[in-house]
Amino acid sequence: MTSADSINERVARIQAGGIIDMHYDLPLGLFLQRSRRNIIPTDFLPQFEGGDIGLLGVALYVEDEYLPNDGLRVALDQIALLQEESKANSRLALCRSFSEIEEARRNRKIALLLTMEGVEPLGHDLHLARIFYELGLRVISFTHARENAAAAGGIFAPSGSPAHGLTSFGRELVAECQRLGLLLDLAHINPAGFEEICSLTTGPLIVSHTNARYYYDIERNISDEQIRMIGACGGVIGINAILVSPRKEDATLDRYVDHIEHVAGLIGIDGVGLGFDFCQFLWRQIPPARLAELEAKLARPHFLSDLSHHGHTRNLTRKLIERGFSNGDLGKILRDNWLRVLRRIS
Ligand SMILES: [Zn+2]
Repeated sequence: MTSADSINERVARIQAGGIIDMHYDLPLGLFLQRSRRNIIPTDFLPQFEGGDIGLLGVALYVEDEYLPNDGLRVALDQIALLQEESKANSRLALCRSFSEIEEARRNRKIALLLTMEGVEPLGHDLHLARIFYELGLRVISFTHARENAAAAGGIFAPSGSPAHGLTSFGRELVAECQRLGLLLDLAHINPAGFEEICSLTTGPLIVSHTNARYYYDIERNISDEQIRMIGACGGVIGINAILVSPRKEDATLDRYVDHIEHVAGLIGIDGVGLGFDFCQFLWRQIPPARLAELEAKLARPHFLSDLSHHGHTRNLTRKLIERGFSNGDLGKILRDNWLRVLRRIS
C-alpha cells in the first residue's frame, strides 16, 4: 500500500463519522428558489453526500429588503420550505433535540438543526422566541451586521461598531433563551454585546461561524480575548471558510487550518469546530449591482478554491492530517465538540 492509499483510507475512516457544519444558509437558499420545489436532491444533496455531512446548522436569515415589516413572514416561509423539503427527502432529518440528532446519525441521515441569524423576525415580541422554539429553533444569534431591537452587529472593519451592548429587550431575550433552552450563538455581534452576553449567562456559548481577528482584523471576527471567553464557558467556535484572510492570495486551506490552530492554541482543541458558511451559491444568485452594494457594506469574501462547498470537506481532513492532527483531535474538530454542546438541547 502506498502512503497516498493509507492517507486516503484514514480520511475515509474519519469522514465516515460524519462532518458537522454549524452554519449554512440553506433556508435562504430555498427561499430564493421558492418558485421551484423539491430542490434539495438536485441542488444540495450531491455535495452533502460527497462531503460526508452528518449535521448542518441551517440558519434563518432575512434580507434587508424585507425589513422591518416582513421579517416574521419571511422567516416562517423559510421554515415551511425547510419542513416540506426535509419531509419529502428520506436522507434528511429536521431535528429538535439531541436524541433526534443521535437517531438521525444512527440511521445515516443528514441531521438539520434550525438556527437563526439575527432576531429581526421577533421584532420586539419576546414571546415569539417561544413560538420559534416550538417550530424547532434551537440556536439563536442576535445579529447579523445590522442593528436590531436586541443588539448591534460587529462591522467589517477593525473598529467603529456601535459602542453599546444589548438593549433592554436584548437582555430580556438572553434570559428567555436560557429559560427555553435555546443555545446562544455570538457570531456577528459587536464586541460590547459579546461581552455582555458572556457576563449574563451560565453554560456554554458558541460562535457558530467566525474567524480569528489575529488573521483578519475586523470586528465581525473575534479577538483572542473573546476566544478565551468562549473557552472559559466550555463553548465551541466554528471556523468560517469565507473570511480566512483579507488578502486573496492568503485565503488558502492552510490559512483556514491556521485559524483552527490559533483557536486551539488559546483554549485547547475542545473549543474548535467547523462553521464553514459556504455561501458562494447565494453570491452567484445576486444581481451585480446589489452584489457591489453588499461587498461595499460587508466585505468581498475570498472563497477558497479547495474548500468552497460541502463536497470539499475531504480536502480539509487530508490537510489536517498533513498538518499533524491526531485522529482524536480530528474527531473533535469535525464533529465531537459540536455534539458535546448540542447534548444540552432537549
Ligand atoms: Zn453570518
